[in-house]
Amino acid sequence: MNLILFGPPGAGKGTQARVLTEGYGWPQLSTGDMLRAAIAAGTDLGKRCKAIMDAGDLVPDDIVVGIIAERYDQPDCKAGAVFDGFPRTPPQALALDDMLAQRGQKIDLVIELKVDDAILLSRVEQRIKEAGGVARADDTPETLKNRLAVYYKNTAPLLKFYSDQGKLVQVDGMVAIEKVTAAIAALISEAKAHA
Ligand code: AMP
Repeated sequence: MNLILFGPPGAGKGTQARVLTEGYGWPQLSTGDMLRAAIAAGTDLGKRCKAIMDAGDLVPDDIVVGIIAERYDQPDCKAGAVFDGFPRTPPQALALDDMLAQRGQKIDLVIELKVDDAILLSRVEQRIKEAGGVARADDTPETLKNRLAVYYKNTAPLLKFYSDQGKLVQVDGMVAIEKVTAAIAALISEAKAHA
């Protein structure tokens, strides 16, 4: 199954993606993680992206589309993958549909984690408190405000794109992690039953 975990920054996509990988074996394809790895490795691509990411803006579509296609072609994605933080713009969504179609695949389910902005902000403040400081340059209340603005402007319009395809389902992302996981598992079972 190919799944997209959708939602604003801090909604819990990464946490749930990791649970899905453990439970179903579909690898987590996080463009944010891949870009952070490129920055840590000091590659040219990482150098091009660092300032953009630190500001909470989006890196160019061609970069993320390229790294996703390369990653998806690894053998561990044969049975499917969990897309986390990708796609984030309409051109990325179209490129993803094309890429999958070329491989005889498709997106099966898009799960939106719904979390209010005020809760996202309090989660960032909590993380900073627990870590005793800022662990990720883009994980500050100020940058979150920009990341949210970018989300509503560029990414949220994709909800209509996927709902028009009949693939969008919603989950309350404000309840306990295990409850979110259980709700997602139920939706996956349902999607599998109708496949
Ligand atoms: P994330 O870890 O998913 O929150 O991503 C961290 C940052 O990486 C984002 O704020 C963007 O700067 C960049 N990024 C990650 N995924 C994408 C994407 N699909 N399109 C553009 N930029 C991205």
